[in-house]
Amino acid sequence: MSNTPIDSCAINNEGVLIDICAFNDCHEQNVKRCRKCNRPFCIMHCNHYSPNFCKECFANLTIIADKFKRQFDHIADNGQKYTSVEERTRFYLDGPDWPFINPWIETLSDDELKILWVFHHHIMRTIEHENDTRNIEKNRRLRETPVAKLITGTVTKTKSVTKVVQPETPESMRAKWKKQGIPDAVIDMMVAAMKT
Ligand SMILES: [Zn+2]
Ligand SMILES: [Zn+2]
Repeated sequence: MSNTPIDSCAINNEGVLIDICAFNDCHEQNVKRCRKCNRPFCIMHCNHYSPNFCKECFANLTIIADKFKRQFDHIADNGQKYTSVEERTRFYLDGPDWPFINPWIETLSDDELKILWVFHHHIMRTIEHENDTRNIEKNRRLRETPVAKLITGTVTKTKSVTKVVQPETPESMRAKWKKQGIPDAVIDMMVAAMKT
């Protein structure tokens, strides 16, 4: 435990030395002492992870997410054995401040241990509840988001085209043959043949 800094004490109206918050010229008198460094701190300057520590202690905490693969053996309906591999994540705490927590827990009295157990258990349940609520909400939003569906199968398309066919007349045939470069004498013969 480090020494209490001078600026974390003040003399009140009755001339009694009292603790004041040691952080950022705070001077709040409603304080408790940090379980690690013994400095007094107020509710505004308590630790992010635990209200038992001041805001500067226990700051070097790291959560490590360690991904690993796990293999599972299965027996199929036909008796064949097959394996599947699933990726899992293991979380653990790390950082220079983390090892401090174990010796601190060992120094707690039975009552303190019980109180902290109830306290952290309550926090844990509240966090779990909040996490579940958020997951349910996230899944609900995902279900409601319209997504493109993949349709497999045969799609038959019917295409209807209307074609107007003019009946050929000797004049239309004559024009067509003329375009093809057939001599007039031959066209005359062909038209004559059409009429018979
Ligand atoms: Zn403060
Ligand atoms: Zn501290």
